[in-house]
Amino acid sequence: MKRNDNTIDRRTAMKTGAAALAVVAAAGTLAKPNIARAQGDGPIKVPALPYADDALAPVISANTVGFHYGKHHIGYATALNAALAGPAKDYAALSLEDIIKTSRANPNRAGVFNAAAQIWNHTFYWNGMKPGGGGEPTGKLKDEIGKAFGDFAKFKEAFARATIGQFASGWGWLAWDEKEKKLVIQATSNAETPLGRGFKPILTIDVWEHAYYLDYQNRRADYVNAVIDKLVNWEFAAKNLG
Ligand code: MN
Repeated sequence: MKRNDNTIDRRTAMKTGAAALAVVAAAGTLAKPNIARAQGDGPIKVPALPYADDALAPVISANTVGFHYGKHHIGYATALNAALAGPAKDYAALSLEDIIKTSRANPNRAGVFNAAAQIWNHTFYWNGMKPGGGGEPTGKLKDEIGKAFGDFAKFKEAFARATIGQFASGWGWLAWDEKEKKLVIQATSNAETPLGRGFKPILTIDVWEHAYYLDYQNRRADYVNAVIDKLVNWEFAAKNLG
């Protein structure tokens, strides 16, 4: 697996996390390693954040990143590893992606699905942002956005509207429709994800309240627009389009 491949599974999560840590450390931007934050024993490991807790401030504070990554994201791994050691032992040899796909189809495994999908979604969310991000995509991604939405301004408006409008907890997505061969915008509830439903995730924004409430309280729109304008990592999104 290439270092920049964003596939997350239990076999490569540690390796990828360590590689990402080495790259960031070499760039001299990481204040302190965070890969060692407790996440329970078990096959599923959450990769380290690709930047320091305070790297997204002031758009997203170190306080929010610390709780969101350290408690929420890691907490899903702790819960999933506990399930894989007991009631969901039959899933213990599967990759994270396969746990998501398999458990989605089984109503008795809703808890496993929720934890697994949330682990995947959060890692994808963190990688979709970077300090000094924002701006506009270039190349093939720019072209596909133009084909699907008219231009970047129209895409941005539609992506923000769908993400802000997601009722209650969930996620806003830019995804590639593998059947129609075009970019689409989706809003999903709770842990649901385009992954494994015929869509390739390109970019996401978390709109669970824990993602913004400490910094923005009820002003979800301000958070979403600030992430799009100042944090989106379009290079990551372009790699996902391939
Ligand atoms: Mn979250």
